[in-house]
Amino acid sequence: MKSEVGEGPTLKSVLAVTAFMILACGAVRAAHWAPGAVIRVWIDPTGAPSDGGALVERAMKTWTAVADGRFKLDRSATRDASAIRVHFFTRDWRYGMTQARPDPKTGLLTEAEVVVAADAGGDALDHHIVVYLTALHELGHAIGLSHTADINDIMYLFRLPGDGERFFGAYRKRLRSADDIGSPRATGLSPEDVRLLRSLYDR
Ligand SMILES: [Zn+2]
Repeated sequence: MKSEVGEGPTLKSVLAVTAFMILACGAVRAAHWAPGAVIRVWIDPTGAPSDGGALVERAMKTWTAVADGRFKLDRSATRDASAIRVHFFTRDWRYGMTQARPDPKTGLLTEAEVVVAADAGGDALDHHIVVYLTALHELGHAIGLSHTADINDIMYLFRLPGDGERFFGAYRKRLRSADDIGSPRATGLSPEDVRLLRSLYDR
């Protein structure tokens, strides 16, 4: 998993490294948050890219909408009041990572740390897509979801770098502009993502 230092920030190279990122995401145990939880999410402004906070917030709203009352992701102004903390970092060989911690007594998730790369390349729209979809994928782990084997799912585990190009490219084709990112016409979620989320919380 070498970094691609020295290569131009082409969409292809971005997506290839992103594929490795998603491949490298830690598996999360099948735990979930308390039913009906209001989960406070703090987005660390340190090193945030342009629109980074807004893109993470769109990903939060996407999950909250499909949770349909099972939980709510609510942005917190302060770190101290938060249960999920989202940080941006300078890309190394990863593009994102999540650690979600269940309470050993209850088995319920109570804390999660998420990191999203701030320096994805490509053009502005590519950058926004990668930040949004990476945040959506990582927040998926933070709320308890594991990887899937279907490239149509946000929780898909990339097998090959070419998967990333297809995955992000397919999403870009659904957009008329950056404003569509995270909108109802381009949530980034598949029906299976929604089904898995609801079955995790409804079991
Ligand atoms: Zn992952």
